[in-house]
Amino acid sequence: MTAARSQGAAGAAVAAAFAADGALAQAIPGFRARPGQRELALAIAAAIADGGTLVAEAGTGTGKTFAYLVPALLAGGKTLVSSATRALQDQVYGKDLVAVARALGLTVRAAVLKGRQNYLCLHRLARTEREGLLATATEVQHLRAVLRFAVTTSTGDRAELAAVPETAALWPAVTSTRDNCLGSECPRLDECFVYRARRAAQAADIVVVNHHLFLADLALRDDALREFLPAADTVVLDEAHQLPRIAADFFGNVFSAAQLLDFAADARVAGLAAAADGAAWVGLTRRIEDSARGLRLALAEAGVTPGTRVALDRVPHPARLAVALEQAELAVCGVGAALAANADRSPELDALRARAGGLEAALAEWRIQVAPEQETAATDETGADAVVRWIALSAQGVQFATTPLAPGEHFARIRAQQPQAWILTSATLTVAGRFEPFLGEIGLPEAATARWESPFDFDRQALLYLPQALPSPSAADFAEQVADAVWPVIEAAGGRTFVLCSTLRAVDRVAARLRELLHAAGAPWPLLVQGGSTRQALLRAFREHGNAVLVGSVSFWEGIDVQGPALSVVAIDKLPFAPPDDPVVQARIRRLQALGRNPFAEYQLPQAVTLVKQGAGRLIRAETDRGVLVLLDGRLLSRAYGKTVLASLPPLPRTRDLDDVRRFLAAA
Ligand code: SF4
Repeated sequence: MTAARSQGAAGAAVAAAFAADGALAQAIPGFRARPGQRELALAIAAAIADGGTLVAEAGTGTGKTFAYLVPALLAGGKTLVSSATRALQDQVYGKDLVAVARALGLTVRAAVLKGRQNYLCLHRLARTEREGLLATATEVQHLRAVLRFAVTTSTGDRAELAAVPETAALWPAVTSTRDNCLGSECPRLDECFVYRARRAAQAADIVVVNHHLFLADLALRDDALREFLPAADTVVLDEAHQLPRIAADFFGNVFSAAQLLDFAADARVAGLAAAADGAAWVGLTRRIEDSARGLRLALAEAGVTPGTRVALDRVPHPARLAVALEQAELAVCGVGAALAANADRSPELDALRARAGGLEAALAEWRIQVAPEQETAATDETGADAVVRWIALSAQGVQFATTPLAPGEHFARIRAQQPQAWILTSATLTVAGRFEPFLGEIGLPEAATARWESPFDFDRQALLYLPQALPSPSAADFAEQVADAVWPVIEAAGGRTFVLCSTLRAVDRVAARLRELLHAAGAPWPLLVQGGSTRQALLRAFREHGNAVLVGSVSFWEGIDVQGPALSVVAIDKLPFAPPDDPVVQARIRRLQALGRNPFAEYQLPQAVTLVKQGAGRLIRAETDRGVLVLLDGRLLSRAYGKTVLASLPPLPRTRDLDDVRRFLAAA
């Protein structure tokens, strides 16, 4: 069969599946044939048939998961699907894939694969139980729950254990990292959940991963997909708008004081267990812990403000930091020498030697970079492999990071080495209908593109409200003005509002002002504020109350699906431009300027537009939803780029009249 004929046959099968009386309509309750979904599926089928790269934007409600699963399954062969989060991974694997395979009458060997920290590590679990060194009664209680779970679970996936929260302090002690896993030397290798999941993935026809795992593999920082990826016929990257940001993290490097502390703790436990007579483990490892604290102090003394990220070449007094890095290096060296002297006494001690080597190398590299006498030549920020080095000091600790300035170049190189079809899709890839900014960011300027508008009836379902008096983001009381401007809309809606803020500081101030207004009006609507509880708990409460007001920052702009009247208003405080004093943002701007390009048009504005589109996308999630989008940034009307932002949004009817909003909400 020729390629054209096989492409035609595949297209016919895909079209038939999506027909009004097709396999999906017959098998899936509530399925409705949508032209955009069918066209997207056909475009994906064609890309799979010719092994090309398709970048497809499909507005909310298109049904893109079915649109890629159907052609991928009908094409046969192996498929890798990567989504942005573990929750979306579970949705694709646990629900959509099962429904599509059943509808098509196909038996599909499927596997879900997450990062290793999501699976119980039986070796570390046994060690933690044996040592009995847990700090709190809660941790002891969590350990008991994990021990019970370990003998009943078939996957070891911690998401299945609701009794122990995601943020529990116990998890690092009973899961593994690439650094501390014993791999082939592990006595529990045969039962290991991590390796079992990886073996299942290797044998599967379709594997569902998340972008972190996918990019860790591409960046050679993991090897979970080492065998599957080259064998795959199709790679689908859902929520692809997140790829450039995550790629920048994975194609760079981070070294943290927390790694030093973990290493010290593991070396002390392993040394005392297997070679108590071999070295003064307690004293040696305490030196590392002291040096990790020393790094923090040195950064503060060097003039780095806690809670900030600073470019390495902007650290005001680096000499003290260089000394602290050297002390940490010497401390790790001391433990490294003790490990070498006790070689072959246990697999754990031997594995720790490799970690010691890696830490020494990272510390030495940063010491050399930091040393004030180090007169390095001016860095060329225009090359494909250019990086920015920066340091972060936060309540969680100290991080030393290297971030590439053109992550797309790395991504494109890897794409070029992979022969199969790649499908990149999301609801938010274009800026005013143009794909170029995203294609530039991801390094695929030649990729085929296609776009489908959301099938929702925005004329009937939604309204965009730009208040007459739009707050100015430069005003000192901007946050209070935002709260005052959105308050009448909250009143008209009877709560049922998300207020999305671009900074955490704004969240607190907007919430404080709304609290006053709620109190003054004696309104019964619960006020939920980011930071008051976990994201999941806040969302659960928002859905359950049905009349709540939620104030959140960036983590609430994406990946949230609240259908129905509980969410009837989404208000966005301002255009979320990345902070211009951030070292990575600054370096990327300098790079584009040096290349004679326009950093605002190519980088800053597209990033902000993507986030606004994501935030606005929370409003209408189903054909029966109705709601008002409130945009509160005066620059939307006063600056030329405001037009670009507005042109990038779905075609919502627009008003500046509060009475229109009241009428619209009253008619709901
Ligand atoms: S192989 Fe690694 S992850 Fe698996 S049980 Fe052993 S140490 Fe843990």
